[in-house]
Amino acid sequence: MNSLIDIKPDSDFSLHNIPFGVGIIPGSGPRICTRIGDKVVDLSIMANQGYFDRGIYEDSDFATSTLNNFISKGREAANAVRLSIQNCFLDSNYSQPEAEFFQQNILYDASEIQMLMPVQIGDYTDFYSSIEHATNVGIMFRDPANALLPNWKHIPVGYHGRASSIVVSGTEVYRPKGQTKPADLSLPIFGPTKQLDFELETAFIVGKENTLGESVTTDEAENNIFGMVLFNDLSARDIQSWEYVPLGPFLSKNFASVISPWIVMMDALEPFRCRGPVQEPEVLPYLKFSGRRNFDIKLEVLIKPENCDEVSVCKSNFKYIYWNMSQQLAHHTVNGCNMRVGDLCGSGTISGPEPGSYGSMLELTWKGTKPFIMPDGTERKFINDNDTIIMRGYAEKEGMRVGFGEALVHIMPAKL
Ligand code: CA
Repeated sequence: MNSLIDIKPDSDFSLHNIPFGVGIIPGSGPRICTRIGDKVVDLSIMANQGYFDRGIYEDSDFATSTLNNFISKGREAANAVRLSIQNCFLDSNYSQPEAEFFQQNILYDASEIQMLMPVQIGDYTDFYSSIEHATNVGIMFRDPANALLPNWKHIPVGYHGRASSIVVSGTEVYRPKGQTKPADLSLPIFGPTKQLDFELETAFIVGKENTLGESVTTDEAENNIFGMVLFNDLSARDIQSWEYVPLGPFLSKNFASVISPWIVMMDALEPFRCRGPVQEPEVLPYLKFSGRRNFDIKLEVLIKPENCDEVSVCKSNFKYIYWNMSQQLAHHTVNGCNMRVGDLCGSGTISGPEPGSYGSMLELTWKGTKPFIMPDGTERKFINDNDTIIMRGYAEKEGMRVGFGEALVHIMPAKL
């Protein structure tokens, strides 16, 4: 029985989780925080109270607007902070003055706290690691008989994205404008995208740098990954299909992507390991790995039209991903590319095997040929102005739940 924080059984933020984020504490400013149940916990005050190892962290390390410095001290050190917080809030034997101090100085209602981007992202890479997604896209845009390109089962395909436009949950995003070429026209036209889409992804945050020229093996990779977030890689399909030949997506992707505000440590996800899909043909030696490297994380996408309840449009799972994060990081660095603390790597759209588990409107409505009817009677082939897109995700096992909360974005009409 914990008298300080009431944690509902279906809360993503159980005591097992203890994620890290940055929130604006009223009267103080940006502070490193965690979330337990419906409470945000100001860790700068806990640091001042001596809860964390002063041989590793200065008290002032928690009074900051990004987690980069905190993460750079290492995953082991961060996990020790996580365990200290767990122990502190497991203890229900607070004296009355202690409990009052906590209530008045450390705990805030989550609804009162504005969350910021948790890390300064230096570089952003997006993979394309779901075989179901790559197959669906290949069927729609290329050749149903040869949906996967010849390299797909040999290389964790990815591309370098743009970090400047990655925003935190709750941000308003304007419908992007650009060039498109409708099939019935011979020349391109300019205007707001008519095919705004989400991509259901997760992303990992790099926790340890490798020097230029040094490769990270699949055995070492997990040690270099700090934690995960939900990731909505917003996409403008009509802009994409016109611009992406031959170098891949550009303006169809870099107008905005959205992350959830709490970074869930890999240590919190440890109980939810599972096997991934069988990889056939056999991969090259540098991509081989041992043990279970996938994670059973349930994922959902909901659309909330203006003046209407939210509607679930997709239920998928991170466990479907073909190339695991260890392979992605090993591949990314195999040529000596240096990754830095705070870099973000998207999983690629996570589609499952069933139509209801496809991770984008492109697939769910099969290029707009099978539209949804929303409760307000409106039709959705893609995302409308004033829609809110909500992604949620959590892992659960034997009564233990570790979740991400939400990655939410409001779509505003294009700026004229
Ligand atoms: Ca993507």
